[in-house]
Amino acid sequence: MTVIERIEAAAKRLEKAKDIVRAGKVHRIEGAGGYWVVEGSQGAFYLVNGTCTCPDYRKRSKTIKFCKHMLAVEIVKSQGRRNGNAQRNGAGANRTAQQAQ
Ligand SMILES: [Zn+2]
Repeated sequence: MTVIERIEAAAKRLEKAKDIVRAGKVHRIEGAGGYWVVEGSQGAFYLVNGTCTCPDYRKRSKTIKFCKHMLAVEIVKSQGRRNGNAQRNGAGANRTAQQAQ
């Protein structure tokens, strides 16, 4: 997979992730720092915590590092920070971004 293909794949997932956030399908699990549940398109629920339990992530985690659910969680986290409502595990977003490079 070339760098351009990886970026395109990530960009596609980012657009889908924005749709997921707009649809209100990202839920933080209270009392379990860093765990999120994201509703998938087929009525499934995926557990996100630096990784994701969806088939896309399992298949492509070595090349793309992100699925749309993980990106949706990152969007919600960054929105929280902008609102002055920082998540306790906000540093996780930076860590994940560095791993992706
Ligand atoms: Zn996923």
